[in-house]
Amino acid sequence: MPQPDDGPGVIPTFDLRRDGYATVDWAANYLENARKYPVMAQVKPGDIAASLPERMPETGEPFSTVLADMDRVILPGITHWQHPRFFSYFATTSSEPAILAELLAATLNQVALVWRASPASTELEQVTMSWLADLLGLGEGWHGHIEDTASTSTLAALVTARHRTGHSAVVFSEHAHSSVEKDVRILGMEARKVATDPEFRMLTSAVAEQLERGDVAAVVSTAGTTSAASFDPTPEIGELCRARGVWLHVDAAYAGSAWACPEFRGSQAGVELADSLVVNPHKWLLVPSDCSALFTRHPGAFREAFTIVPEYLRTDDEPPSLADYGPALGRRFRSLKLWAAMRCFGRGGIQEFIRRGVRLAHDFAGWVEADPRWELVHVSLSLVCFRFNGTDEENLAIVERVNRSGDIFITHTRLADRIVLRLAIGYLHTTAEDVAFAWSTLNGR
Ligand code: PLP
Repeated sequence: MPQPDDGPGVIPTFDLRRDGYATVDWAANYLENARKYPVMAQVKPGDIAASLPERMPETGEPFSTVLADMDRVILPGITHWQHPRFFSYFATTSSEPAILAELLAATLNQVALVWRASPASTELEQVTMSWLADLLGLGEGWHGHIEDTASTSTLAALVTARHRTGHSAVVFSEHAHSSVEKDVRILGMEARKVATDPEFRMLTSAVAEQLERGDVAAVVSTAGTTSAASFDPTPEIGELCRARGVWLHVDAAYAGSAWACPEFRGSQAGVELADSLVVNPHKWLLVPSDCSALFTRHPGAFREAFTIVPEYLRTDDEPPSLADYGPALGRRFRSLKLWAAMRCFGRGGIQEFIRRGVRLAHDFAGWVEADPRWELVHVSLSLVCFRFNGTDEENLAIVERVNRSGDIFITHTRLADRIVLRLAIGYLHTTAEDVAFAWSTLNGR
């Protein structure tokens, strides 16, 4: 058998068992020891590129060299999203069952172009989407499929909204995620950004004014904004959309996962009026990136907007392909990792994981509120927005100090024209001690 290193012009073969066991050991060691790394990568731009050869090797190398370079070259340039003290952006989490399912998905390498190209991928995706709708308490009548990211899910929803309404204006709030504006730009649609109230919620009156103009394709209502996890008034906006025949897309990319717990479903009000809804299991549902669930009440409208079947993919009497609901034709087996996470954690495990994150965030918010040197600006689900009682510059300096220390990693945002710090909890193995440690670090202790 040819081996890597045998020379140019040879196709090497590999020992998946030996390399695979070593790789799983590497992954397990990494996750067990993630705490020992500085959370935010401490390299300078260009450092990682400079430590790599300019050209690929002429002759194949054994996989062990790749694994060795994970430690030597790659880890120094890793910001550790799977570190228990990663509190930035929306902290996302992988999980052991879903990591292994990714390996299986890559092994099977399914490309679900049409049903016959991968009956299992097509059907498991439909079943997991129906399990997810049930887990989140969405009720009946939703069709779900998986896109890579919320950016793509919203893009698909806006394409469908334009196709259905014949209009091209899209209304969303100044606090909607930037992906909405980017999607609008990609599609050559017209962005209409409206103001928010002091709780960072889209103003219904401003939406009503826009709808009066009679040229709106869609309103994007956010359930859990990125800066503050605030909730737009979806019930009122939904009624307005319904009365005007305007498509309502709800972006619950982060907060939708919390609906796994009945006590957090208050923020789901109005979602029953939505024409489409995005929830990202790759944020807070124990599934590694990428996995974005796009639900709709109008699967036919998506099919009308997206179906183009070239001759080579034509088949008679087969179920529709999930490629007919969005931009990508070759769709990978993303449902496998969601299925693994849902089965292995179960409803109870997922609920306890979400509840623990919310509890930890509220503990932290309590410490902020009790300390006169700090101000609690907003707390919602597992996100706390707070600031040091000082200038914007002092607050930015705190972010820089704690991130450079490597002890924790947080981000900032701007709310009501002030710099505010954000602590987002979402990683599976974050403990109460990690959150207490974050508070000490922020206080310079
Ligand atoms: N919508 C909201 C509310 C988000 O917070 C984010 C990302 O954090 C997105 C959309 C974009 O998600 P993605 O990276 O999956 O495109």
